[in-house]
Amino acid sequence: MSHQLRVDWPACKGRGLCHELLPEIVDLDEWGYPIVTGPITDDLRPDAASAVRACPRLALRIVD
Ligand code: SF4
Repeated sequence: MSHQLRVDWPACKGRGLCHELLPEIVDLDEWGYPIVTGPITDDLRPDAASAVRACPRLALRIVD
């Protein structure tokens, strides 16, 4: 089963911490908002969980 990183857009403030923690699957657009570029592969699960915990706006979730 593949998991995805989901962004809660009204909550996200676009400072890009998630990109720093998870550059493999999070790019930033020109305003600094995250663009999720792919699924959370097994090897990225720990980093994805860290990004969810670290988001200062609690704007990230892992969904199936
Ligand atoms: S860490 Fe959270 S608030 Fe910051 S850009 Fe990513 S989703 Fe948005």
